[in-house]
Amino acid sequence: MSARPSCSIYFENTHHYHKVDARLFELSDLRAANVRDQIVRATYLTYSVIREGLVTAERPLLVFGGGAAGVSCAVAALNLGLSVFLVEKEDHLFVTQMSTNTRTIDPGEFDWPLPHWNSGVVPPDAGKAFALAYRRGVASDVATAWTMLCDEYEDEFGDRFVVVPGVDARELELQVAADGVTVKGLEGARLPPPSFGAVISCVGFGEEVVFDKQARWNYRGLKFWADDTLHAEKLGIGRHRSGEIHALVSGGGDGAQQDVQRILTRTFGFDLVVRLQAWPDVDARFAAQFASIGDRCLAIDDLVWDSVDWQHHNAPDPTKLQAWHDAYEDVVDSVWSSLSEQELDWQTQNVIRPEVRSLDLALTWVLRDPYPSICYPLNRFLTAWVLRLYARISSRELCARGGSKAAMDCIMVTGYEITKIASGAASHVCSDRAACFAQAHHVWVAPSDGSRKASLLGEFHEIVLRHGIDRTPLFDRSAPPLMLKSTDMVRPGLPLRRY
Ligand SMILES: Cc1cc2nc3c(=O)[nH]c(=O)nc-3n(C[C@H](O)[C@H](O)[C@H](O)COP(=O)(O)OP(=O)(O)OC[C@H]3O[C@@H](n4cnc5c(N)ncnc54)[C@H](O)[C@@H]3O)c2cc1C
Repeated sequence: MSARPSCSIYFENTHHYHKVDARLFELSDLRAANVRDQIVRATYLTYSVIREGLVTAERPLLVFGGGAAGVSCAVAALNLGLSVFLVEKEDHLFVTQMSTNTRTIDPGEFDWPLPHWNSGVVPPDAGKAFALAYRRGVASDVATAWTMLCDEYEDEFGDRFVVVPGVDARELELQVAADGVTVKGLEGARLPPPSFGAVISCVGFGEEVVFDKQARWNYRGLKFWADDTLHAEKLGIGRHRSGEIHALVSGGGDGAQQDVQRILTRTFGFDLVVRLQAWPDVDARFAAQFASIGDRCLAIDDLVWDSVDWQHHNAPDPTKLQAWHDAYEDVVDSVWSSLSEQELDWQTQNVIRPEVRSLDLALTWVLRDPYPSICYPLNRFLTAWVLRLYARISSRELCARGGSKAAMDCIMVTGYEITKIASGAASHVCSDRAACFAQAHHVWVAPSDGSRKASLLGEFHEIVLRHGIDRTPLFDRSAPPLMLKSTDMVRPGLPLRRY
């Protein structure tokens, strides 16, 4: 058995906050997360249940869900010499990331602007917390590499690692006793033990809301973790219809912001930063600015952190969110004003996609609040930056009122919610994604405070809805969990937050 890591504070915190019962743990009941943080949480939680003596040689670990979190639990326990049963609903592992070739995942991305973020890896010390390591890459490639690792583990560990695909954990019957958990419904699986030492649920975060929960319209938007054509010329729609393409993104978080970046530039995140810095003259000055804003952004994030705290029982304080957004706008202002018109022209030419520059593709972003919501710093900065580049084009050409403020008002419809999406042509019935692809839709919006009736916003051909996730944890829990934000591990010298 290899030596166990000694980060006891993380063990205790994860154990405490994900515990549902003495032997049941829920890792999917979180408001916001990313692949990296789930891997870290899963690893610490597994070490903690082993350290508490719940999982032993006689009483293996049972894991529900074969995503990044579930497999991390399995790998952590296997590496400590213990046995694991992993139950997955689908017929293969890593369903979420396996389904897209059009997104990258990156363990360091969430740490921007810390120095290591652009390497695509986290520092070795923090990396020790990863049962399942990965580097920046296309999501399905990373998932394929993880699957191969799991195949090797199954070969290497034989009966110590049993993967049970095609079984829905919600249909299993659990009986929790003082000395272990017995499970009915696993009888068909290879060698199920009489009882398990602990059960960790890693069934994911539930259904992504890309539809109308109140059933006022039938349109279903793109799922985040599915292949899409947002990167293609004219969003892949141009081949199916002539004339201008109008895109709409609704929602204020990371998913929405990533797609705002993609629609305007064909890329996002790290690759977008590379493109912004690609011109030699701009390179040196933008890169220097980009590096120097780091500390300011971190300081801003820390100031507002208490109000946000990534806790789902604690709605963020709107004034703090507004202050957060304004502070970032100030940072963007200062970098923006340091570049010449010529440099900004260059960035606009080289970063904003040609169809947007030629006004064949237009974007509108609808936000329920007056500001973007909780999101990672890199997304907040990049979205604000590319919107300004876009507004330079729009202010000249698109907005009759002129001026960059007016242009931004045309692009960002803040404080409004979509109330209706309807087919723009009698011939098209909104039934599913295929029926709606490249079709015209009319969209109505109303102020989120209910102060006025809905009005027609316009006609759109791609509508991306990023309205959060309907959480469906497997186990009921009395108290909501706090988030373990693993970024703290990679910020040397900072005290641990109160988890
Ligand atoms: C809109 C959006 C944008 C995101 N953007 C990013 C991003 O850019 N970068 C990033 O790192 N993360 C991002 N995330 C978060 C990322 O998707 C999750 O953190 C990660 O997938 C969680 O891993 P997981 O293993 O906990 O759950 P999942 O990956 O969801 O895996 C859950 C597994 O459990 C299985 N399962 C479900 N129900 C059952 C059941 N009843 N019985 C058995 N098995 C079951 C599923 O089939 C699946 O294999 C985003 C999430 C969303 C919704």
